[in-house]
Amino acid sequence: MPDTPNRLFEVACKGCHRPLVTVERLRNPEIAVVVDHLRACGASEPLGDEAMLGAIMARVQVARVARG
Ligand SMILES: [Zn+2]
Repeated sequence: MPDTPNRLFEVACKGCHRPLVTVERLRNPEIAVVVDHLRACGASEPLGDEAMLGAIMARVQVARVARG
C-alpha cells in the first residue's frame, strides 16, 4: 500500500505575513477565512467583490509544511 504523504499547506497573507490557515487542501471554509482577512488587512491589496480564486491566491503565500 503506498504511503499517503501527510502534506499540509500554510497560507499566509502577503501583505502582513500573518499565517491564516494551515490545511491539507483549501476548501470553502478556509477560503472564507482568507477572504475575511484580506478584506480586513490594511497591508494587503484590496480585494474586490468578486473574490476570484486567482485574485485571492495572488495575495497570499502558500508554503508546504511538514506535519508534526
Ligand atoms: Zn494581512
